[in-house]
Amino acid sequence: MNTPSHVILNLALLGRRSKSQLNSPIFWGAMLPDLAMFGFYGWAKLIAKMDEATIWRDTYYEPFWQNIFDAGNSIPLALLVIGIALWVRNYRPNWQALADGTIFLAASVILHCLADLPVHVDDGHRHFWPFSNFRFESPISYWDPDHHGGIVALGEFLLVLLASWRVWTLLRTRWLRALLMISNAFMWFFYASFYLQGS
Ligand SMILES: [Zn+2]
Repeated sequence: MNTPSHVILNLALLGRRSKSQLNSPIFWGAMLPDLAMFGFYGWAKLIAKMDEATIWRDTYYEPFWQNIFDAGNSIPLALLVIGIALWVRNYRPNWQALADGTIFLAASVILHCLADLPVHVDDGHRHFWPFSNFRFESPISYWDPDHHGGIVALGEFLLVLLASWRVWTLLRTRWLRALLMISNAFMWFFYASFYLQGS
């Protein structure tokens, strides 16, 4: 899925109106699995000066980069973090707020992985790394027009629109609500320019 979709869906599913302090760990947990990719793209584009085709067809698949990407997309690693945080929560009552934030951050990472699992064809991650190198190869893609990308993206953006209804009530500041609206508008603009033109 697209990163903004993960953020909005995760906030809608994990967010609590009475606990706005959890919004920030949920946000970062939804971002984390994709952050290494942004770093990689920035490096490849600006520092290594590669062209788009080389970046996504070759360098992206190099084992070095794949290990970094997959560490951030690992369900077992996120579960381990939750286990440690639960232990801390039990035995160090003073650290409860920190432990709660960590639990929601890791839960948000897991939700991100579960949302990605069914919509990646040949660009999926090893979600069970380091225990298994298994990659689920789905018949549908969140972007690739050759694998129903147009319909899947439409479903994704509609789901995000629905989730935004709830996220709106979780956000406290005007500029965050504005950001939510801009994200939705951007998705539909992207959809129109990527899938509707020339088809
Ligand atoms: Zn992802």
